[in-house]
Amino acid sequence: MKFGGTSVGSAQRMKNVVGLVETAGNVIVVLSAMSGTTNSLINLSQCIKEGEKANATKQIDDLEKKYKHTAYELLTDQETYKEAIAKLDVIFAELREYLGKPFGEKEEKEVVAYGEKLSTMLVALYMREKGLNSLLLDATEFMRLTPDGEPDQAYIKENLNKILLKYPDVDIFLTQGFICRNAEGEMDNLQRGGSDYTASLIGAAVGAEEIQIWTDIDGMHNNDPRFVEGTSPVSELHFEEAAELAYFGAKILHPTCVLPAKYANIPVRLLNTMQPEAPGTVIFNTKPTQTIKAVAAKDNITAIKIKSSHMLLAYGFLRKVFEIFEKHQTPIDMITTSEVGVSVTIDNERCLEPILKELSEFSNVTVDRDMVIVCVVGDLEWQNRGFEAEVVNALREIPVRMISYGGSNYNISLLIRKADKIRALQLLSKHLF
Ligand code: ASP
Ligand code: MG
Repeated sequence: MKFGGTSVGSAQRMKNVVGLVETAGNVIVVLSAMSGTTNSLINLSQCIKEGEKANATKQIDDLEKKYKHTAYELLTDQETYKEAIAKLDVIFAELREYLGKPFGEKEEKEVVAYGEKLSTMLVALYMREKGLNSLLLDATEFMRLTPDGEPDQAYIKENLNKILLKYPDVDIFLTQGFICRNAEGEMDNLQRGGSDYTASLIGAAVGAEEIQIWTDIDGMHNNDPRFVEGTSPVSELHFEEAAELAYFGAKILHPTCVLPAKYANIPVRLLNTMQPEAPGTVIFNTKPTQTIKAVAAKDNITAIKIKSSHMLLAYGFLRKVFEIFEKHQTPIDMITTSEVGVSVTIDNERCLEPILKELSEFSNVTVDRDMVIVCVVGDLEWQNRGFEAEVVNALREIPVRMISYGGSNYNISLLIRKADKIRALQLLSKHLF
């Protein structure tokens, strides 16, 4: 069970989390830092790096106040509260030590790691106060990176299981998301939002029955609730469908985060701490069920049409085109081709000028800005009849610039004008769901 920053964002929220964990049986609980803390620690690191000592001191003081107040609200037993304050005193003294020494990337990673150490320390004390049979594990004793910076899954599996075997009678293990050690044994992390990754790695390492990601939304919705009324949570998604949706900023896990779960064949369930009885969304490997599941849209897309008189029957044209984007480190998201031209989309115009210049040397280029990719996800295997027709039909009053279908079994993407986005999302919901 992994709880994100807002789920542990206050003493009350921490109590709710423990209420959910309490009845869950044998469980490993992964916590993020309290919401805002990781950002504060990154700001703090910036200040220390720039030698702004007064500002840094103030930030540490503010954090200390916040955590002491949280401890006060969380803990009722005087001895436990005193223990929390003593632990906070140690942690904040350690943080203040960074003000007087050289500060680089290594130190920044150490400082940022305090977010998860703080949240788990407080929740562990609260669990103990409540008399739960629980134990706090230090994630840095088993979460490791390989020399190329990827999670060392063999190491994690071996060491985590070794630790767990030492405590056969413990019901609830608690540990930090996000933080780990690198191959040299130094403090490191799994990048922003990395607690989901921790949960997925741990679930895979222990062969969990299920990996639960608890946030404050009731799973993945079938359309964007900001623009469409009456959206509903998708109950089941295939891992591939989740991966297609991830690009669209749909509130869902990053695809690399769920890979360990996917390969270990462990379902990932998205649940809502504010509404724990709701079924949420479960992401797993079972075959999709001949339905269209969800619609999502991504803004700020630029389409580039590249036409060449030489493309007719030629080979190597696409390679030349793609090489230019690669050279300028610009990912291409959507592609459609015809015999005489190709259209691609990008979501980052940083290198658009040089890209256009180089493309123009061998082709005719036109650019459409302020476009939106609308993505329809579901069981869109080509032999299923009619699904693509339904999607296109739903959008018949909207001008469509590109359609991409058949790239995977799970999606159709359409490129439209930003001005048509809301209407398109509404029409899709109306016709498909
Ligand atoms: N606390 C980390 C972050 O804010 C990791 C996480 O919450 O997933 O990025
Ligand atoms: Mg997060």
